[in-house]
Amino acid sequence: MTKQSIESITKPRSEVLYKEALQHIVGGVNSPSRSFKAVGGGAPVFMKRGKGAYFWDEDGNRYIDYLAAYGPIILGHAHPKVTAAICHAAENGTLFGTPTELEIEFAQLIKAAIPSLDKVRFVNSGTEAVMTTIRVARAYTGRNKIIKFAGCYHGHSDLVLVAAGSGPSTLGIPDSAGVPSSIASEVITVPYNSVEALEAALDRWGNEIAAVMVEPIVGNFGMVMPKPGFLEGLCAAARRNGSLVIYDEVITAFRFHYGAAQTFDGLEAPSLAAIEPDLTALGKIIGGGLPIGAYGGRKDIMEQVAPLGPAYQAGTMAGNPASISAGIACLQALQEPGLYDRLNKLAAGLEAGLAAAAREHGIALTINRIRGSLSTHFCSHPVSDYEEAQDTDGEQFARFFRLMLDQGICLAPSKYEAWFMTSAHTDDDIAATIAAAERAFAVMAQ
Ligand code: PLP
Repeated sequence: MTKQSIESITKPRSEVLYKEALQHIVGGVNSPSRSFKAVGGGAPVFMKRGKGAYFWDEDGNRYIDYLAAYGPIILGHAHPKVTAAICHAAENGTLFGTPTELEIEFAQLIKAAIPSLDKVRFVNSGTEAVMTTIRVARAYTGRNKIIKFAGCYHGHSDLVLVAAGSGPSTLGIPDSAGVPSSIASEVITVPYNSVEALEAALDRWGNEIAAVMVEPIVGNFGMVMPKPGFLEGLCAAARRNGSLVIYDEVITAFRFHYGAAQTFDGLEAPSLAAIEPDLTALGKIIGGGLPIGAYGGRKDIMEQVAPLGPAYQAGTMAGNPASISAGIACLQALQEPGLYDRLNKLAAGLEAGLAAAAREHGIALTINRIRGSLSTHFCSHPVSDYEEAQDTDGEQFARFFRLMLDQGICLAPSKYEAWFMTSAHTDDDIAATIAAAERAFAVMAQ
């Protein structure tokens, strides 16, 4: 039998730039999730330019992009309407330190799509958004502790860097150094999809729990749906206890449909829209590719926030016209009829092709797909909580990742991260990706 091999693209300029970056930037990257540490190390690819579903590296190699910048780039790179909005904003001044009418327009757009948000506040990142929802919940309830779910990532603020999913797990740093144990002790972590574990924690720490924080659909240990009854049970238990429910929708908002997980009422998620959280954190897609975060919720809770209330939160860059303009353009483009169905169809085709190719070569692969996003887990068991996501073959993933990259297919360098479809991907891109995966599996199987 002939030995399968793949002719790999070469990236000499990325190697050179990585060496140079290491001299000046810690680890050579400005976010640890961009490093290749979890997939065998070495130089990450330095990208130069992106357009639609593709980006090109510093050596001129083209990649089909499923990273989508960890989620925000749902319209593909340099979408003309988003680009025009950013240019227009730049020409008119990027920062005033005063309110603008644009912020009102954007707040109205977001509130119309996510009705649980009586009031919103714009910030600069998902981390800030989540961090502030916790402060507001503490201010409102007069309690200190929060409950979170193992493997859910909620940004890098102290309180939520405990059992925190994709980024930290990939690098084997489940609890970050530098977080005082006094702070970590304010967080109780229970397994996702287990109402029983949540109820047990509430029984034990009940009147100390300010909030239960959850990714309503998980995006940080693969894409994982809540089991039927999980979110209902979570909300009922939290409310019985006088604790607030915080949804971290930084990944999920505008991901599966024009709205959030909390308004998602499709066949895939019949009961999600039955529950309204008290507070919601947003980010990623709502910025159209520029830095942004937002949080919001019930009026009486949000009125805890300064200048109305005693919970302080501020931001020099918050609500800047460039991010807000990009966000408005992005949400308007996402209202195009049929767009989300197209993403769903592309991902369904990709899922079927990957599954068939893996089967053909005897590779154990579990694929979790939710509409236009999916995650690939090298294992033969289902993945519905963090433990199951950890119990998968990281070395096989690393091999697959490299073999795909060598063929111009860019995935996130972590076994926990998702693949995201963009509105710029085509059927041909999906076919090329499946063909590349077939070749990769053939090599892995020998
Ligand atoms: N919450 C979730 C669910 C996330 O996935 C992320 C980032 O990946 C964050 C919060 C933090 O957002 P940011 O990286 O914009 O600070």
